[in-house]
Amino acid sequence: MEPVEFVASLRSNGSRVTPQKLAVLEAISRHPEHLSVHEVHERVKRIYPYIAITTVYRALQAFKDLGVVAEIAISGRQRFEFVDPASRHNHMVCGICCRVFDLEPHRLEDLRNSIEETFGFKADVAQLTITGTCIRCRSEAARLTDTHGDGNGN
Ligand SMILES: [Zn+2]
Ligand SMILES: [Zn+2]
Repeated sequence: MEPVEFVASLRSNGSRVTPQKLAVLEAISRHPEHLSVHEVHERVKRIYPYIAITTVYRALQAFKDLGVVAEIAISGRQRFEFVDPASRHNHMVCGICCRVFDLEPHRLEDLRNSIEETFGFKADVAQLTITGTCIRCRSEAARLTDTHGDGNGN
Protein backbone atom coordinates (compact mmCIF):
# COMPACT_ATOMS: atom_id res chain seq x y z
CA MET A 1 0.00 0.00 0.00
CA GLU A 2 1.26 3.47 -0.83
CA PRO A 3 1.61 6.04 1.96
CA VAL A 4 -0.94 8.32 0.31
CA GLU A 5 -3.54 5.60 0.74
CA PHE A 6 -3.17 5.88 4.49
CA VAL A 7 -4.20 9.52 4.53
CA ALA A 8 -7.85 8.56 4.28
CA SER A 9 -7.61 6.05 7.12
CA LEU A 10 -5.72 8.61 9.20
CA ARG A 11 -8.49 11.16 8.71
CA SER A 12 -11.24 8.65 9.43
CA ASN A 13 -9.37 7.79 12.62
CA GLY A 14 -9.65 11.39 13.76
CA SER A 15 -5.94 12.08 13.38
CA ARG A 16 -4.87 15.43 12.07
CA VAL A 17 -2.94 14.88 8.87
CA THR A 18 -0.08 17.35 8.68
CA PRO A 19 2.53 17.55 5.91
CA GLN A 20 5.15 16.81 8.57
CA LYS A 21 3.38 13.59 9.55
CA LEU A 22 3.23 12.55 5.93
CA ALA A 23 6.94 13.32 5.54
CA VAL A 24 7.62 10.95 8.46
CA LEU A 25 5.58 8.23 6.77
CA GLU A 26 7.32 8.88 3.45
CA ALA A 27 10.73 8.68 5.08
CA ILE A 28 10.02 5.35 6.74
CA SER A 29 8.17 3.76 3.82
CA ARG A 30 10.98 4.45 1.36
CA HIS A 31 13.56 2.63 3.41
CA PRO A 32 13.30 -1.09 3.94
CA GLU A 33 15.75 -1.05 6.85
CA HIS A 34 14.73 -0.66 10.46
CA LEU A 35 15.28 2.95 11.42
CA SER A 36 15.84 4.57 14.79
CA VAL A 37 13.91 7.74 15.68
CA HIS A 38 17.13 9.68 15.02
CA GLU A 39 17.50 8.19 11.55
CA VAL A 40 13.88 9.00 10.67
CA HIS A 41 14.44 12.50 12.07
CA GLU A 42 17.56 12.98 9.90
CA ARG A 43 15.64 12.00 6.79
CA VAL A 44 12.60 14.19 7.54
CA LYS A 45 14.91 17.13 8.28
CA ARG A 46 15.95 17.17 4.62
CA ILE A 47 12.43 18.39 3.87
CA TYR A 48 11.58 20.12 7.17
CA PRO A 49 14.89 21.30 8.66
CA TYR A 50 13.26 22.64 11.83
CA ILE A 51 11.06 19.67 12.70
CA ALA A 52 11.53 18.54 16.31
CA ILE A 53 12.46 14.96 17.07
CA THR A 54 9.49 14.78 19.46
CA THR A 55 7.18 15.54 16.52
CA VAL A 56 8.75 12.68 14.58
CA TYR A 57 8.42 10.40 17.60
CA ARG A 58 4.76 11.29 18.13
CA ALA A 59 4.01 10.72 14.44
CA LEU A 60 5.67 7.30 14.60
CA GLN A 61 3.61 6.38 17.66
CA ALA A 62 0.41 7.52 15.90
CA PHE A 63 1.29 5.39 12.87
CA LYS A 64 2.07 2.49 15.17
CA ASP A 65 -1.41 2.77 16.71
CA LEU A 66 -2.83 2.56 13.20
CA GLY A 67 -0.75 -0.52 12.45
CA VAL A 68 1.09 1.25 9.64
CA VAL A 69 4.41 1.26 11.43
CA ALA A 70 5.92 -1.47 13.61
CA GLU A 71 8.16 -0.82 16.56
CA ILE A 72 11.00 -3.18 17.47
CA ALA A 73 12.15 -2.43 20.99
CA ILE A 74 15.18 -4.25 22.34
CA SER A 75 16.99 -3.30 25.55
CA GLY A 76 15.90 0.31 25.40
CA ARG A 77 16.64 0.82 21.72
CA GLN A 78 13.69 1.44 19.47
CA ARG A 79 13.61 0.80 15.75
CA PHE A 80 10.74 1.48 13.43
CA GLU A 81 9.72 0.03 10.12
CA PHE A 82 6.93 0.49 7.64
CA VAL A 83 4.43 -2.36 7.82
CA ASP A 84 3.66 -4.06 4.58
CA PRO A 85 0.77 -6.42 5.36
CA ALA A 86 1.88 -8.63 2.47
CA SER A 87 5.26 -9.31 4.04
CA ARG A 88 4.78 -9.66 7.78
CA HIS A 89 7.84 -11.01 9.54
CA ASN A 90 9.58 -11.50 12.85
CA HIS A 91 12.94 -10.07 13.81
CA MET A 92 16.32 -11.14 15.07
CA VAL A 93 18.32 -8.50 16.90
CA CYS A 94 22.09 -8.71 17.41
CA GLY A 95 22.98 -7.88 20.99
CA ILE A 96 26.43 -6.62 19.95
CA CYS A 97 25.91 -4.39 16.90
CA CYS A 98 22.13 -3.96 17.47
CA ARG A 99 21.39 -4.63 13.80
CA VAL A 100 17.92 -5.98 13.07
CA PHE A 101 17.29 -8.84 10.66
CA ASP A 102 14.02 -10.07 9.20
CA LEU A 103 12.89 -13.61 9.89
CA GLU A 104 10.20 -15.36 7.86
CA PRO A 105 7.27 -16.32 10.16
CA HIS A 106 7.15 -19.91 8.86
CA ARG A 107 10.47 -20.56 10.62
CA LEU A 108 8.66 -20.19 13.95
CA GLU A 109 5.84 -22.59 13.08
CA ASP A 110 7.67 -25.66 14.45
CA LEU A 111 8.40 -23.86 17.70
CA ARG A 112 4.78 -22.81 18.10
CA ASN A 113 3.51 -26.32 17.34
CA SER A 114 5.92 -28.01 19.74
CA ILE A 115 4.98 -25.58 22.55
CA GLU A 116 1.31 -26.26 21.94
CA GLU A 117 1.81 -30.04 21.87
CA THR A 118 3.93 -30.07 25.02
CA PHE A 119 2.15 -27.50 27.18
CA GLY A 120 -1.18 -26.96 25.49
CA PHE A 121 -0.06 -23.35 25.39
CA LYS A 122 -0.96 -21.39 22.28
CA ALA A 123 2.04 -19.13 21.77
CA ASP A 124 1.67 -15.82 19.98
CA VAL A 125 4.87 -16.03 17.97
CA ALA A 126 3.81 -13.14 15.72
CA GLN A 127 5.19 -10.81 18.41
CA LEU A 128 8.34 -12.81 18.98
CA THR A 129 11.72 -11.14 18.51
CA ILE A 130 14.83 -13.26 18.86
CA THR A 131 17.98 -11.82 20.36
CA GLY A 132 21.46 -13.21 19.78
CA THR A 133 24.70 -12.57 17.91
CA CYS A 134 24.79 -11.98 14.15
CA ILE A 135 27.16 -13.75 11.77
CA ARG A 136 29.34 -10.67 11.35
CA CYS A 137 29.84 -10.19 15.09
CA ARG A 138 30.41 -13.93 15.54
CA SER A 139 33.14 -14.06 12.90
CA GLU A 140 34.67 -10.90 14.37
CA ALA A 141 34.71 -12.60 17.79
CA ALA A 142 36.26 -15.73 16.23
CA ARG A 143 38.93 -13.61 14.54
CA LEU A 144 39.85 -11.95 17.85
CA THR A 145 39.95 -15.34 19.59
CA ASP A 146 42.27 -16.67 16.86
CA THR A 147 44.70 -13.79 17.34
CA HIS A 148 44.97 -14.43 21.04
CA GLY A 149 44.53 -18.16 20.77
CA ASP A 150 46.95 -21.04 20.36
CA GLY A 151 48.96 -19.50 17.54
CA ASN A 152 52.74 -19.67 17.78
CA GLY A 153 53.88 -17.51 20.63
CA ASN A 154 57.35 -16.78 19.28
ZN1 LIG B 1 26.07 -8.08 15.20
ZN1 LIG C 1 11.61 -6.03 9.60
